[in-house]
Amino acid sequence: MEKSIANRLKRVRDALETESADALLETHPPNIYYLSGFTGDAGILLVQPTSVTLFTDGRFTIQAKEEAPGVRAHIHRGGPLVGSVGAYLRRKNRIRVAVSPTRLSLASWTILKKAAGKGVRWVASDGIVDRLRAVKDAAEIDRIRDAARVGSEVMEETIHLVRPGVTELDLAAEIGYRMRRKGASGESFEAIVAAGPRSALPHARPTSRQIGRNELVVLDLGAILRRYCSDLTRTVYVGRAPGRVRRWYQAVLGAQAAARAAVRAGVTAGEVDAAARNLLQRKGLGRYFVHSTGHGIGLEIHEDPKLARGQKGLLEPGNVITLEPGVYIEGVGGIRIEDDILVTPRGAEVLTTAPREFLEI
Ligand code: ZN
Ligand code: ZN
Repeated sequence: MEKSIANRLKRVRDALETESADALLETHPPNIYYLSGFTGDAGILLVQPTSVTLFTDGRFTIQAKEEAPGVRAHIHRGGPLVGSVGAYLRRKNRIRVAVSPTRLSLASWTILKKAAGKGVRWVASDGIVDRLRAVKDAAEIDRIRDAARVGSEVMEETIHLVRPGVTELDLAAEIGYRMRRKGASGESFEAIVAAGPRSALPHARPTSRQIGRNELVVLDLGAILRRYCSDLTRTVYVGRAPGRVRRWYQAVLGAQAAARAAVRAGVTAGEVDAAARNLLQRKGLGRYFVHSTGHGIGLEIHEDPKLARGQKGLLEPGNVITLEPGVYIEGVGGIRIEDDILVTPRGAEVLTTAPREFLEI
């Protein structure tokens, strides 16, 4: 990791130069980890041209030394951490500091500005680190592969447990347990298990409702391995599905295949979204596809790039994205199929392996 961190810091410093800033003040924990290796839950990172300083408190002195050996730790005692960063910056004459307006609370911003004084100039800048994180290096791709493998295994096992009488919460508990038994440190998000009409809620939370006969069941889960996330969804039918449900399923599967075929380095994220959306529109299901086609995954479950309508950003080799078209029909149910995809110069490599064919249980 050491070498990749040095490379990341170099690229942050290049970006700071472009933004006419001398330093980056980073408060977002995944970004702090990405640039230093530090995983403690209290920290602010200050990246300057020749140094990196981690502001943290006494609980994390040993951890900072172990996890972020290349970083100068500044152990803060008492008061808000951000005040300590401000006091440090006050001693730097006319320094220009990049901060993220979307990630600094109004309270923190007020304390920071006051502590730093009028000598500091602030540059509002979002996404410097997030943009770097969107392109994964080989070590990160390895970790996501592991997370995708565990997620896929747990998906297959859980599908075998789907039967009438089992509750959504039963299945969600199995998912969490089985992931940890396979080495996951946790779930990327609280697993979605939604049966019957509840499956029409794209982000349903599992309930004590029992699965019945002749129902769709949507399972959406993800594992975290060595801090990297996976995210996949399968939809099964309990019983023998009516023709319209089969048609919907084939349409969603086709939309996902169309999106996958559109993926390669150099296309816009919006083109990939359009590939899935147009297919569902042609099948008369466009209005039931109520969300975007996918999102990046990595240290966080939702990160850049976003695969949504009209997104102009170009896909790059090393992006890892989900493709997850779905249809949601009120009162009936929903169907979503989601896989994790590595963007390569020539196309898409699918990282999640759970079978995708329509399954009637
Ligand atoms: Zn998902
Ligand atoms: Zn997703």
